[in-house]
Amino acid sequence: MLFLDFFENTTLLTVGLLWILLLFFATKAATPLKFSKGLWCLFFAFLIFFASDFFYSEYDFFMGYGVSFQILMFSNLFLSVGAATLLLMAAYDVLLQKNIPIYILSLFVSLGLSISFYAVFIANSQNMLQNTCYVVPLIGFLNLFLSFLVQSDVNKRKGLLLASVSIFGLICEMALKLFLDVDTNLVLTVMFLFTLIASYYLMIASFYKKFQITTKERFDKIQSNMYAVMKSSPFPVLIVRLKDDQIIFANQNALKLFELDGTELKRYHFKEFFMDENNQKLLWEKLEHTNEVHDFEILIKTFLGSTPFWVTVSANVIEYNDELAFYLAFQDITTRKQKEKILQNKADRDPLTLIYNRGYFESHVPEKIKAAHAAQLPFAVLMIDADFFKNVNDTYGHKIGDKVLMEMAHIIERSLRPDDVVARYGGEEFVVFLNNVTPEISVLVAERLRKAIEGALVYSEKGEPVRWTVSIGVAPSGVSDDVGALIKMADDAMYVAKTNGRNQVKKYISSQMEILKNKHHSSSNVHPALSGEDENEISLLDGADMDFISEN
Ligand code: GH3
Ligand code: MG
Ligand code: MG
Repeated sequence: MLFLDFFENTTLLTVGLLWILLLFFATKAATPLKFSKGLWCLFFAFLIFFASDFFYSEYDFFMGYGVSFQILMFSNLFLSVGAATLLLMAAYDVLLQKNIPIYILSLFVSLGLSISFYAVFIANSQNMLQNTCYVVPLIGFLNLFLSFLVQSDVNKRKGLLLASVSIFGLICEMALKLFLDVDTNLVLTVMFLFTLIASYYLMIASFYKKFQITTKERFDKIQSNMYAVMKSSPFPVLIVRLKDDQIIFANQNALKLFELDGTELKRYHFKEFFMDENNQKLLWEKLEHTNEVHDFEILIKTFLGSTPFWVTVSANVIEYNDELAFYLAFQDITTRKQKEKILQNKADRDPLTLIYNRGYFESHVPEKIKAAHAAQLPFAVLMIDADFFKNVNDTYGHKIGDKVLMEMAHIIERSLRPDDVVARYGGEEFVVFLNNVTPEISVLVAERLRKAIEGALVYSEKGEPVRWTVSIGVAPSGVSDDVGALIKMADDAMYVAKTNGRNQVKKYISSQMEILKNKHHSSSNVHPALSGEDENEISLLDGADMDFISEN
């Protein structure tokens, strides 16, 4: 054994133990690293080599107990094969950085044991035994040496180079002993062992350094990548500190959207950008409750105060620079809102005259009635129908009919207050809600409308003047607050105006309407209103209006 004589000297034994200790700590220090497994294998391999040498030196002791030399020799070789196998595993770990395949391992172990068995029990020659003792560890060391050498960056890493040299030295020593039977100087062996330790430290140190640098580099890179992603996110992104609502991060799009100065972010508090304070409170409450919010719509103003705009915000609570913060991503939905408004407008408007349609009137007037009722203010509904409109179409064409309808809408709208509502109810029928008018005034307003339309004029395609008139029914407040009922009342009154000769205003008078209805049911062609017999009938409307009869 190579280390045999080495242990005969107690000083060297101490050095040897120290070496194992140092190797142990070096290996231990390397455990979190990639080389850890290889180093552990290496450490145990050397430990076993030393153990086997120590064991060899104590043969006499065991032989005193009757253990045969052959058994001792085989046990010793068995340990050497084990150590050599560990060297092989270390080589695999360093060389390929993977586990040794089990078939190679078994092949190596069985080959080593077979040779040992043959040398000890079959050949039983002293020379063969001696040689086997050196061949087994030699193979292990050769493997290790090769693995260090083929490491691609062996030149760049002093540790690997030193390890290669040390192991090469140990191999040379063994080869000299094996082939030329030359015993080398033990001090040389110790030197090689120490350079091997030094190489481990160098390897570990450089590995740690590299590990630390790459970890930091990677971390910095991840951080800068994340920052770049956030900065250039297609959505405007803000990070707002939870405790004082201060904006602590804004990406490019957010700076643009909110008109912020990126160098002075500290100046801004997110609250200031809300048009509606309650909206902001609601958003904050939701966030504090659930930690995240999706597509919350808010009306926002910019810092420089340009026109308010709609955004949706999705947000969650994050930890940013060790503080709790809201991470908010926005989407400008002004265009969507505008489109919605246009669509809504389209749905509410009559495409020919562009005034409101029947749907709008019926869904919005109830609110107005409610408000008027709450404020105890009177109101009225008018039904306006063009007289003999069919004739206009028949005489001048549909196009001119349309022109008349547009002109009518224009006149009616122009004559009323912004608080009133005008809508095209059907073909040539318009309906009006008059806000805050007494029945008397509503009739006067209707009369004014009638007159304005009577005086209106459009020209036919041939340039002829086209004139037309309207009949208007007035339904004052007091009987019903239901918009449908009010329209019906106005329509009934308008019907009376029609049957009474057209181009006139009639106010709803219930008794009149009853008679009208009865006559209508009995299929009479002559409307009672035409005879004028009911003109002074008592109205069901408020007292002041009891006997008010409207006529042009
Ligand atoms: P009355 O005095 O009894 O109301 O007679 P009228 O001819 O006005 O009544 P009628 O209900 O018989 O005819 C209404 C006409 O209005 C028929 C239809 O062709 C016309 N009309 C309805 N909508 C439009 C429209 O959008 N454009 C045009 N040009 N005409 C329309
Ligand atoms: Mg009609
Ligand atoms: Mg008509």
